[in-house]
Amino acid sequence: MMNENYQIAVIGGGIAGQAAALTAKSLRLKLLWLGEGYGKADRAEYIRNYPAFTGDGAAFTDALEKQRVAEGLALTPARVDGVYKTADGFFITAGKQSFSAQSVVLAIGVEAAGVIAGEREFLGRGVSYCAVCDGALYRGKNIAVVLSDEKFAEEAEYLAGFASNVYCVCRGFEGRFRAENIQTVSDTPIAVVGEERVNGLRLIKSELAVDGVFFLKNSAPPEALVGGLETEGNFVKVTRSGETNLKGLFAAGDITGTPYQFAKAAGEGLVAVYSARAYLNTLAQKERERS
Ligand SMILES: Cc1cc2nc3c(=O)[nH]c(=O)nc-3n(C[C@H](O)[C@H](O)[C@H](O)COP(=O)(O)OP(=O)(O)OC[C@H]3O[C@@H](n4cnc5c(N)ncnc54)[C@H](O)[C@@H]3O)c2cc1C
Repeated sequence: MMNENYQIAVIGGGIAGQAAALTAKSLRLKLLWLGEGYGKADRAEYIRNYPAFTGDGAAFTDALEKQRVAEGLALTPARVDGVYKTADGFFITAGKQSFSAQSVVLAIGVEAAGVIAGEREFLGRGVSYCAVCDGALYRGKNIAVVLSDEKFAEEAEYLAGFASNVYCVCRGFEGRFRAENIQTVSDTPIAVVGEERVNGLRLIKSELAVDGVFFLKNSAPPEALVGGLETEGNFVKVTRSGETNLKGLFAAGDITGTPYQFAKAAGEGLVAVYSARAYLNTLAQKERERS
């Protein structure tokens, strides 16, 4: 899979991602769909405002799954940690996996917990979202790891292979770790602090002296994934066609702003792929003129 060049990569398994994937399939684009699960679709208590559907979140995700199977849409399990512009498209990394695509639709939603003070400011100066990419930079150092889900425990263990001491702050679950140099901290992080670089993580009841803070969560701020991406607060800046400031990269769904609604997310997923196709057609035209 690594060297295959896709025409379009859709990142995110929620409604915006699924609408984008369906549209890419109907437009016969060579598609790579990266993500996990169904996004926030399963959280709704009862959905009354999405055309032709009424029911709870479980029934909704069931319908989404049936559609994936019926349409032959395969979601490649991956949590993307980097999207890089190259001469002929984009290079995408997800832990130890990597992919190439000519265009990208970012449909990564927004994390309800949001970001804490200093998290954005110290990105690349002690704040990281990717254990595999940055773990080795903290060899012999003290770090804090903020985990938003139990599934990230393995990445915390991976970091413990480099760092001297790892303070794990587990949000909403009780953390259990094998590595002896992991210490679980039961508190709530409120700010990343430092000067040139991170030197601490402030919690409600205490402050940890650390050289780095890893936030392991389902959704990282978009500018942490894509260098040079223009954002406005928590959102990616887009045109009505879903174009971002980076040619060939489009965005759809909650990540582009409110209202946070399934119908908006689905519509934007579709529009972004039509825009991506127009972009791909322009590339193909230029290629023909060159040859
Ligand atoms: C409790 C609750 C109830 C709701 N009820 C309703 C309702 O009744 N009606 C309504 O219209 N809307 C409702 N909403 C809003 C609706 O859920 C959202 O608007 C919708 O899910 C947005 O879809 P999305 O695809 O943009 O984002 P999401 O659903 O958030 O999906 C984004 C996906 O991208 C994935 N992702 C993030 N980062 C990465 C990465 N780096 N690599 C790979 N994948 C990544 C995430 O894991 C997730 O799967 C509700 C929301 C909540 C929380």
